Amino acid sequence: MRTVDELDVAGQRVLLRADLNVPLDKSTGEITDDGRIRASLPVIRKLSERGAKVLILAHLGRPKGDTFAERAAGGPSLRIVAGRLSELLGKPVAFAADVVGEDAGRVSQALNDGDVAVLENVRFEPAETAKDDAERRALAERMARLGDLYVGDGFGAVHRKHASVYDLPALLPHAAGDLIVAEVSVLKRLTDNPERPFVVVLGGSKPSDKLGVINNLLGLADRILIGGGMSYTFLAAQGYEVGNSLLEADQIPAVQAVLEQAAARGVEIVLPVDLVAASHYAPDADHIVVSVKSFPAEREGVDAGPETRELFAAKLADAKTVFWNGPVGVFEFPAFSAGTRAVAEAVAGVDGLTVVGGGDSAAAVRSFGMPDDAFGHISTGGGASLEYLEGKTLPGLTALED
Ligand code: ADP
Ligand code: MG
Repeated sequence: MRTVDELDVAGQRVLLRADLNVPLDKSTGEITDDGRIRASLPVIRKLSERGAKVLILAHLGRPKGDTFAERAAGGPSLRIVAGRLSELLGKPVAFAADVVGEDAGRVSQALNDGDVAVLENVRFEPAETAKDDAERRALAERMARLGDLYVGDGFGAVHRKHASVYDLPALLPHAAGDLIVAEVSVLKRLTDNPERPFVVVLGGSKPSDKLGVINNLLGLADRILIGGGMSYTFLAAQGYEVGNSLLEADQIPAVQAVLEQAAARGVEIVLPVDLVAASHYAPDADHIVVSVKSFPAEREGVDAGPETRELFAAKLADAKTVFWNGPVGVFEFPAFSAGTRAVAEAVAGVDGLTVVGGGDSAAAVRSFGMPDDAFGHISTGGGASLEYLEGKTLPGLTALED
């Protein structure tokens, strides 16, 4: 992959595909975690300092509707993100109210060397995510007219075959941005000869999201700790009662196959031994600690219990490489965040390469007030890093390679 340092960007209009897909507060619409904007700053600053005219393409959320107008009326606008970017850069950032329309053309033409502008949410253009190659290609051609060069730095979107990620780089001289280079080099260290023991912690809500990656990790990791919502399906597969906890009953056979594979390959699977069981899913729900051997039928699991927290910490203590994806409890409710906090602290204490992947996991770490540098790397791309570890080819990386 060519890097930005190998592109002559001075005086050129650079279309930068960034990942600015930040979580927004459902009621106020405010940005609740600007980590992805901050992670994009190095390449934006570098391009601007080298005299490029920087035009940023990015998506936000999943707007619905058949046309640009319908999506723009209901979907999240990138205007608020442009505002935060301007604060973080300490200089004005122009905003275009469309992606390839009149306003985008006007903003692109008005840029001076070193200026930065953000285009409206690329997913307001239905063709951005079209399955049809020709439709996506036509949109990419209109995007290409706005710039001279392309820099791909939206790691969180590289697993998507989308116009601005996959089709556009083929139309312009291109390079990979600093964030993508950093993300890929860390993931390579996990897959090519990781230092051992290599311990993986997986949580989050559903095993169906993560069985693909577990299967591939069985060939890489020495030990896999499974917590959070997905652990109930593993516990159920072993015959335990899980009450009203999250359960994907249809995944039980696949989970059993994972357990058998792990045993055959000598990979240790560690499951919770006790849980915090709440009366219902609410921040102030009544809750008790129970052993997994005696889970009450009328309660639901919302966090790892104290013995599980100690067990997971002990299983992480000797690790030389760690990959952690997914909270082990409903960390959004402070009463049920202790398990995830314990995992975060144990991972931070590891003497070796520690990688945190996943939007919610990163948000959890920040909500505990832990500095980003407590970890070796916090990935900005949950789905992208999981697909990389699954061994899949990522369209956005392939597009930057040739
Ligand atoms: P990431 O974004 O880090 O990849 P996921 O999206 O897979 O993580 O999972 C995050 C979600 O999993 C959080 O919203 C959290 O509340 C939920 N979760 C974790 N443990 C539980 C549990 N025991 N019960 C219900 N939800 C859970
Ligand atoms: Mg998530």
